[in-house]
Amino acid sequence: MDLAFSSEDRAFREEVLAFVEANLPGEIRDRVARGLGVGKEALTAWQRTLHEKGWVAPAWPRNYGGAEWPLVRRYLFQQVMGEAAAPDIPPFGVNMVGPVIYTFGNEAQKARFLPRVLSGEDWWCQGYSEPGSGSDLASLRTRAEDQGDHYLVNGQKIWTTYAHLADWIFCLVRTDDSGRPQEGISFLLIDMKTPGITVRPIITIDHGHSVNEVFFEDVRVPKENLVGEPGKGWTYAKFLLSNERTGIAHVASAKRQVARIKSIAGAEEIDGRPLIEDRAFRARLAAVEVDLMALEFTELRLLSKVQGGGTLGAESSLLKIRATEIQQSLTGLLLEALGNYAAPFEAESEDDARRNEPPIGPDYRDGALQQHIYGRAATIYGGSNEIQRNIIAKMVLGL
Ligand SMILES: Cc1cc2nc3c(=O)[nH]c(=O)nc-3n(C[C@H](O)[C@H](O)[C@H](O)COP(=O)(O)OP(=O)(O)OC[C@H]3O[C@@H](n4cnc5c(N)ncnc54)[C@H](O)[C@@H]3O)c2cc1C
Repeated sequence: MDLAFSSEDRAFREEVLAFVEANLPGEIRDRVARGLGVGKEALTAWQRTLHEKGWVAPAWPRNYGGAEWPLVRRYLFQQVMGEAAAPDIPPFGVNMVGPVIYTFGNEAQKARFLPRVLSGEDWWCQGYSEPGSGSDLASLRTRAEDQGDHYLVNGQKIWTTYAHLADWIFCLVRTDDSGRPQEGISFLLIDMKTPGITVRPIITIDHGHSVNEVFFEDVRVPKENLVGEPGKGWTYAKFLLSNERTGIAHVASAKRQVARIKSIAGAEEIDGRPLIEDRAFRARLAAVEVDLMALEFTELRLLSKVQGGGTLGAESSLLKIRATEIQQSLTGLLLEALGNYAAPFEAESEDDARRNEPPIGPDYRDGALQQHIYGRAATIYGGSNEIQRNIIAKMVLGL
């Protein structure tokens, strides 16, 4: 394993750090550091800032407007962004549909969609999951009937993050059910303003609104919005999921969380002494820090493997499992450090009736409970951890 960064890489790291410090508004940084959501307007503004600098799509080829950095630079960039508490720009455009379009789409689709993905002008959402088709995605039933010059789409998607904010949805739809389930799936781009689409919010346990149900009733989608070939959607979907799982270790933000817990445990007291001096608490925090360090070195080892020409298989499942478990352990410790102050739920949105109640406890408790309870979803989305374990069992243990 070669982990040495060159002097150019270190200079690049400094350049990114200086850029974030000069351009990321303090208010956004503060919200991210507390684990609170960042609104569409602020996220789009941050995306625009990165776009103007040419840094919005580190992995995209240059001819499509990307930075085309080698893996090490992408890693360093992500680390600095995590350390600086910069918000992640929504993954659905730049990380997901963009690479599918420039890899499998036609020239007209590339010209029409890619510039607006990069600039953040179009927000995208991902229409894969359906009621009854999550882990078993190939069983999906949303149907797109060939009507000559257009498809007629009927069905339902669920858990669609940002459907209420998105301009477009990329959808897996069934165009044929004569063969194996995977063979009859196509990849369709649908304008969210098309008549027949209804978005219904799902309010999550943290009282937030990020996920939705999306209903399609006789939705006419022009044939030109089909990506690649009909019936090949499963191949494109798998390509997209492999992109979804890169950069999932989130080591830098977990380190920020450790620092936050230490600082709170230094301020909170137990039996008249700072909690950070409590042996049992320290032992638990140290155990998670050791796991985090192991995760960091695993990620670096894998980086070194890919740089040397290797590819990732089941290892990305391993990263996903460990990263999400560490994330959840950390928010658990955060609540423990806050003690009673973690319990009051502070309403976030302007129209929430509980908002006019005065906040209880110190400022640093903001967002902790929301982060912990919403964080339960991390082991479910992006392919549940049980499914990741199945992948490891098949690919590594040959079961
Ligand atoms: C917050 C959030 C955001 C999401 N955003 C999106 C989005 O934007 N777009 C989108 O398309 N989807 C999205 N999803 C959906 C997500 O991908 C699915 O929830 C996930 O794939 C699990 O599918 P499911 O909910 O149908 O559960 P199921 O597949 O029904 O699974 C239920 C339980 O059974 C376990 N299980 C299932 N099959 C197996 C098996 N073969 N072996 C062992 N255990 C198994 C699962 O691990 C899970 O614990 C989101 C989900 C959440 C929670």
